[in-house]
Amino acid sequence: MEITENYNTIKKQLPSSVELVAVSKTHPVSAIQEVYELGQRVFGENKVQELMEKYPLLPKDIQWHLIGHLQTNKVKYIAEFIDTIQSVDSEKLLLEINKESHKHNRKIKVLLQVKIAEEESKFGLEIAEAKDLYQQYINGNFPDVEITGLMGMATFTDDEQQVRKEFSVLKSLFDELNHKKELKTLSMGMSDDFPIAIDCGANSVRVGSAIFGRRDYSK
Ligand SMILES: *Cc1c(COP(=O)(O)O)cnc(C)c1O
Repeated sequence: MEITENYNTIKKQLPSSVELVAVSKTHPVSAIQEVYELGQRVFGENKVQELMEKYPLLPKDIQWHLIGHLQTNKVKYIAEFIDTIQSVDSEKLLLEINKESHKHNRKIKVLLQVKIAEEESKFGLEIAEAKDLYQQYINGNFPDVEITGLMGMATFTDDEQQVRKEFSVLKSLFDELNHKKELKTLSMGMSDDFPIAIDCGANSVRVGSAIFGRRDYSK
């Protein structure tokens, strides 16, 4: 099977210290099941609606990561089962996750998504905002979430130097915030740029199309 081959090829390229988030958005439950059976447990989805449809149909030991922009009013739908929300891009969202986390008597893990790309379209916190939120967290705000790291997306470009520069900015911020060694995850790199991301210090990569094939948005 093609997916199995793809998965094995990707796994071979990842050092054992690098976590793989298999990004299954737009792909059917059967494809996720196939990758699950190869031992993969961490999967990423970018839409709440799609995740809620897939979640009940798949094994309960999957660690689901939300990787797409999340509207505050949708946190409640995933709060009970989401493992990590990688796409925290506002204080308002972090407050809401904290509230829902408390309500469900758990500690949802989150990553602060930082805007490192030149492109205007990408969501994310400015570096100063990320520093401020993390400092608030260290000071005891948001007690019901666990900020485990940072996430970022580089500009979609063939210019490797540009991508490298952007990833390095996030790595520097990670090191700066992590002087007390309380952070774990630096999530950067996708199908086209994960080797560069790892080279720049990523210890978690989000790979979709290189495993599951191209996404067909017409369906
Ligand atoms: C879709 C997506 C990915 C995976 O992209 P591929 O190019 O298919 O590997 C990674 N991160 C985020 C935030 C995404 O939305």
